[in-house]
Amino acid sequence: MLAKRTQTWYNRIMKKTTVYEDAKKKKAQRLDRHTVACPYCGTPVLDHMTQCPHCKKELTPAGYQPLSDQKIKKIRIVTYSIGAVVTVAIIVLLIVFRK
Ligand SMILES: [Zn+2]
Repeated sequence: MLAKRTQTWYNRIMKKTTVYEDAKKKKAQRLDRHTVACPYCGTPVLDHMTQCPHCKKELTPAGYQPLSDQKIKKIRIVTYSIGAVVTVAIIVLLIVFRK
């Protein structure tokens, strides 16, 4: 009986630990995307930092990365599609209301 209860507590604690570990992992992954190596000492630093926290040398913040060609193409296709639909709608409305 006691062993069973202990097992339940153990499972509950382990479940919480797993959730906590997952959150920690996700946070680390999110940080990883914005981490670059310091060009002077190699310490991982965040890409928006202006000074290395390790060697105190000045860093050039990467800022926002320019859009990739694929993303630009996608945005262009969506914009053109919306433009085409709106143009067709206006033409249809003009034809319908001319009569
Ligand atoms: Zn450094």
